[in-house]
Amino acid sequence: MELQLFNTLTRSKELFRPLAPGRVGIYTCGPTVYAPAHIGNLRSYIFPDVLKKTLRRLGYEVHHVINITDVGHLTSDGDTGEDKLERAAREAARSAWEVAAEFTERFLADLRLLGVEIPADLPRATEHVPEQIALIRRLEERGFTYATDDGIYFDTSRFADYGRLARLKAEGLQEGIRVEMGGKRNKTDFALWKFSPPDANRQMEWDSPWGRGFPGWHIECSAMSAKYLGEQFDIHTGGTDHIPVHHTNEIAQSEAATGKPFVRYWLHGEFLVLEAEQRMGKSEGNLVTLQELADEGFQPLAFRYLALNSHYRHFLNFSREALRAAGTSLTGLRRLVRSAGGEGWARSRAKTGASLPEGALAHLCDDLNTPKALASLWTALRDSELPDEEKLARAADADELLSLNLFDFSGLEAGEMVEEVLGEGAGVVAAKIGTDVPEEIRRLARQRWAARLAKDFAESDNLRDRIAAEGYAVKDGKEGYELTKKH
Ligand code: AMP
Ligand code: ZN
Repeated sequence: MELQLFNTLTRSKELFRPLAPGRVGIYTCGPTVYAPAHIGNLRSYIFPDVLKKTLRRLGYEVHHVINITDVGHLTSDGDTGEDKLERAAREAARSAWEVAAEFTERFLADLRLLGVEIPADLPRATEHVPEQIALIRRLEERGFTYATDDGIYFDTSRFADYGRLARLKAEGLQEGIRVEMGGKRNKTDFALWKFSPPDANRQMEWDSPWGRGFPGWHIECSAMSAKYLGEQFDIHTGGTDHIPVHHTNEIAQSEAATGKPFVRYWLHGEFLVLEAEQRMGKSEGNLVTLQELADEGFQPLAFRYLALNSHYRHFLNFSREALRAAGTSLTGLRRLVRSAGGEGWARSRAKTGASLPEGALAHLCDDLNTPKALASLWTALRDSELPDEEKLARAADADELLSLNLFDFSGLEAGEMVEEVLGEGAGVVAAKIGTDVPEEIRRLARQRWAARLAKDFAESDNLRDRIAAEGYAVKDGKEGYELTKKH
């Protein structure tokens, strides 16, 4: 079956072809970790999760990266104002590093509650400053940069194709947007490196060939995507707000540095809104977090259901009534799945080599049409008048979606165990992991499993001790391990 994806570059659905046979690289712009993610932000991580699982079902090995922006995102996209992390830290009288660590962990916990698989690579901007400096040097050598009083800037007039993704006007800007010029030569020029202000102490700053300071926001994604996925890769995702500035600038930096096309397919998720066209955002003061909804008694997966029930390129009109209805549907669907033979039915069939019907998958292959895939799941399960053969086939079709793990029917609570399949190829392991185990500990457990596979038992014991010292326990089983918080 072939996958069609809507590519923002061409504004049309295109047949997906990977750069390298059998393998796909996906980069998703991650959160700026100065505040909790709101449910609008979270919507932007559900469709790449569906994409990844669909690609896997089609037989691809998928390498997915989500970055963590923990420095350099200023309060204004025009490269003025304060660093969001430094400001949040000052207001909370904490260190910027503590604020970043807390909101990174909370973001990952939200993803887990939504059944979004967490990528093994979650690169932080602060851990990749040398890579960012090296990329800026490369741009400097190629003549794309200039210095002002407050930093090193990218000269967009030197990059012929600037604004292609956003179809920006000749002067390179969306109409009606005001820009503070400072020392900039062109309105669309943007900071690659900002100097630390002489009169204020920054918590996060580094030495560079141009002086002490910190990276601009866009450069991290060009530097880290190249490190983890290569200078050219297949798919890049984010919210639609990233089209005119952030992604436009990523393309300019990467292509100016390498002289090669950067990304083949750009996928953008439309906004979650409260009333028609009113976006949810910090400045609008109308944020809703997953935690608040959980505190009000909603199951987190009802939000996943709600998100999947509209297409990712359409606005999602959020209301508590709609969420309540999604929760009721999810409960009803779970009941039907159980009576049709339960989750895992098709998985066991797949193991024995029996072929699976393709109805629901066909919808997913049509630019991730999750509402239609969901509808086909309902049709498959509801019709009890069908002959047994047909019912089995339809249940298998439905279960296809379950085996894709698009819908998690376990109804997660904090601390509950979730089964995860880690690694690909020979290193595949089924791990059961508590939802309250943080990413750092999960990483140690993966390293420990790798050490065990390599028969490096000294290292694997050492890692077990480190995990125990942090208050977590790892227990080995036949095919994998269990990782829990000690109580
Ligand atoms: P940020 O933390 O601001 O960098 O945003 C993280 C992700 O959320 C980005 O991909 C944004 O495009 C996306 N985003 C921000 N607001 C919304 C919204 N209301 N609905 C959907 N996605 C959003
Ligand atoms: Zn980015």
